[in-house]
Amino acid sequence: MIVVGLGVGGEETAGRLAQAGLRVVGIESRLVGGECPYYGCIPSKMMIRAANLIAETRRVDGMAGTATVQPDWTPVAKRIREEATDTWNDQVAIDRLVSKGATVIKDRATITGPSTVKAGDREFEAARGIVIATGTVPSVPPIEGLAGTPYWTNREAIEVEVLPASLLVLGGGAIGMELAQVFARFGVKVTVVEGADEVLSMEEPESGVLAREALQRDGVTFLLGAHATQVGYAGDNFTVTLDNGASATAEKLLVATGRRIATADLGLEKVGLDPKARRIEVDEHVRAADRVWAIGDVTGVGVFTHNAMYQADIAVRDILQEPDAPTANYHAMPRVTFTDPEIGAVGMTEQQARDAGLNVRTGSTPIPASTRGWIHKAGNEGFIKVVMDADRKVLVGATSAGPTGGEVLSALAVAVHAAVPVHTLRQMIFAYPTFHRAIGEALKAL
Ligand SMILES: Cc1cc2nc3c(=O)[nH]c(=O)nc-3n(C[C@H](O)[C@H](O)[C@H](O)COP(=O)(O)OP(=O)(O)OC[C@H]3O[C@@H](n4cnc5c(N)ncnc54)[C@H](O)[C@@H]3O)c2cc1C
Repeated sequence: MIVVGLGVGGEETAGRLAQAGLRVVGIESRLVGGECPYYGCIPSKMMIRAANLIAETRRVDGMAGTATVQPDWTPVAKRIREEATDTWNDQVAIDRLVSKGATVIKDRATITGPSTVKAGDREFEAARGIVIATGTVPSVPPIEGLAGTPYWTNREAIEVEVLPASLLVLGGGAIGMELAQVFARFGVKVTVVEGADEVLSMEEPESGVLAREALQRDGVTFLLGAHATQVGYAGDNFTVTLDNGASATAEKLLVATGRRIATADLGLEKVGLDPKARRIEVDEHVRAADRVWAIGDVTGVGVFTHNAMYQADIAVRDILQEPDAPTANYHAMPRVTFTDPEIGAVGMTEQQARDAGLNVRTGSTPIPASTRGWIHKAGNEGFIKVVMDADRKVLVGATSAGPTGGEVLSALAVAVHAAVPVHTLRQMIFAYPTFHRAIGEALKAL
């Protein structure tokens, strides 16, 4: 087998296939482990943990005495280097993969034929097949004046050692919102520009409002419903002009306007795939073409680490021709936006359920109205919303936003995943006084 791209999904696939006794060549052009451990999930969540400690300390006032906090980025930058990324060194990950029996090639891969892949001046031929796991890269919009300026993507934002005084964030999606809140809590003057009328447009509208209002309390300014048309860079600051005539200026500019699949010049056409497609279409075994599998962000199913791991498992078991190999089912895809409050969601939003033609009924309840939310007081904002298919009488989607919203999500994820009848959920005993007890209230509101 040849595995192209050794990020989250590719590393897992190559390791497991090698452990199963196949001869595996894994090819990685940057860092074995991919975006998540070096520039994504892990360092960003370390930043969020630090920023949340600051916010939580500030909540002491009026509830437990007084506390002052002097934010300092130094330990955060140090932790990202020493604990998360080994200063962006992947030797440990390479050794781990080699110890499982895989051959690791650090070079850029190009598919040259139905079963051949080139890396540098070497060409490999796969007897069994090819796995494409090249992930995504930041999608940078063609805004006049932007190209050539030292704008940040998530990579520069994660690497930053000295914080700027001010930051403009283009894009109010999960990555933009998480990073905006972190930097604001460390004293950076942050402005978020979002083309849609509300942030987090992939989630329930209530989630966008909740997150935006939380960030506004942290001092973040929002320019919504406006698109950047021009970027000016004057050496020590950026000015972004919007299509509504407004403009904003800051020392740094973070482009967080989405991701595009990293398949440019990969040679997809050599295996019969469209090199211009926005995603690689896969079937329920994550097969993309004859003896070609695609996993992770490139499939466009969900740009999450847990999706890459899930699809890796499906690919591995299909490649190994396991008799009970599972097929992919994405109806209960969970995701969490790690803002404070955290916004966990699973399955369909209300709008997606309506668009799918379902007979939709929803129920929701505010977290501050729950006993635990009332006790919690400072920082208790949030809600639980459930989306029911009233014909099948099962939940098809849910959102759990609030303190530990991503953890509270687990019960809702089980309900959507296993299509637990709402009647059965209504019989559950929810521990008192927990945040997840609010699920019972949301179910009653159905
Ligand atoms: C700031 C940020 C925060 C995130 N936070 C979360 C989170 O909290 N939770 C979550 O679930 N997800 C999160 N994600 C998303 C997560 O990082 C990705 O979904 C995950 O990394 C996808 O794994 P992958 O294997 O598909 O791709 P990647 O991890 O991107 O790996 C692809 C690999 O392929 C390599 N490659 C590409 N082209 C070639 C080539 N031609 N030859 C050789 N190698 C190649 C790349 O160098 C890369 O290492 C976050 C992402 C970002 C940017």
